[in-house]
Amino acid sequence: MNPFEYREPSSMEDVVGLLTAYEDAQVMAGGIDLLGEIKEGVASPGLLLGLAGIPGLTEISEGPTELVIGGMATITAIEQHPAIRRLYPALAEAAERLATPQVRNAGTLAGNLCQRPRCWYYRNPLTPCLKRGGDTCYVLEGYSKYMCVTGGSGCYAVNPSDAAVPLVAYGAGINIAGPAEDRSMPLEEFFTGPEVDITRENALERGEVVESVGLPEPPPGTRSIFLKAQERVAGGFALTSVATVVTINGDAIEAASIVLGGVAPTPLRARESEAYLLGKGVRDVSPEQAAALVLPDAQPFDDNRYKVTLARNLVTRSLTRVLQP
Ligand SMILES: Cc1cc2nc3c(=O)[nH]c(=O)nc-3n(C[C@H](O)[C@H](O)[C@H](O)COP(=O)(O)OP(=O)(O)OC[C@H]3O[C@@H](n4cnc5c(N)ncnc54)[C@H](O)[C@@H]3O)c2cc1C
Repeated sequence: MNPFEYREPSSMEDVVGLLTAYEDAQVMAGGIDLLGEIKEGVASPGLLLGLAGIPGLTEISEGPTELVIGGMATITAIEQHPAIRRLYPALAEAAERLATPQVRNAGTLAGNLCQRPRCWYYRNPLTPCLKRGGDTCYVLEGYSKYMCVTGGSGCYAVNPSDAAVPLVAYGAGINIAGPAEDRSMPLEEFFTGPEVDITRENALERGEVVESVGLPEPPPGTRSIFLKAQERVAGGFALTSVATVVTINGDAIEAASIVLGGVAPTPLRARESEAYLLGKGVRDVSPEQAAALVLPDAQPFDDNRYKVTLARNLVTRSLTRVLQP
């Protein structure tokens, strides 16, 4: 493990200033992912900037049109927050199913969204993959059981964040502090695939830090659910997950958002299934037919073909539950 300096700035301006000034600086939230990477020799920042001393970053506040979750809010705080449980049950369910109580108590929302991939080749110091500046992807000659079935472009690691899946489905936005000016973008656009930059998984530029995530108030008639398939009951990353959010007006489906986790380098909208649902009467929907439209361009490896079946079964189950009279 390389030695590093640790500082706890007291303002976001200081964090941004230090990140900009020192190329080898990195922010640390709960440290669950980052300290593991440092111990494994996968990351070696020279300067760690702890965000715990910055006022307001742990807050979850309900405004007139949106709910704002500070980047340092823990997964436990999200799981237990009454407004989240009431208005965004799929997010509360994802938080509940995420990792273990210990990880949920220390792990934060921004850390969960910005965590690095769990690909075992990326995480192994002996296999310097493309993400770490190497010249080969070891998945092509190795094991691909947990890798993506679509969207891989040189790198086949999936986005591991459970929280990202329902947040994208609810149309969340992300607020970013940076050296030029603070900016916001839809969370869906925050995540980037290997075709954009194989060494990164999001749109953060040098010096930028996630400040908060904003969730628009769901329209009346909104129902939602999060389902996750995992190998172990506790502490298991998603093999595949789905968040389904529908808005029903009278008998008609007015809006539909279906997002898959564990199948692609970014949370993936099932747009063909969404289009199938839009405008249909609830009783006219065949969940199986909607699910059959999921992952139309999947190109699985031999040992992760099961993820396509899993995704379709989860979508069927989620629609059956969410469209119940
Ligand atoms: C046993 C185990 C099981 C797990 N199971 C799951 C699971 O089922 N589902 C799941 O989703 N996750 C799972 N995880 C991952 C875990 O949820 C994340 O490691 C954790 O949420 C990271 O949060 P953190 O606050 O500790 O982030 P840190 O480790 O502090 O940071 C993670 C990354 O985010 C960056 N970062 C942190 N905050 C910011 C910010 N504000 N702006 C910009 N970048 C930032 C850091 O630089 C670092 O690169 C598991 C982890 C373990 C150890």
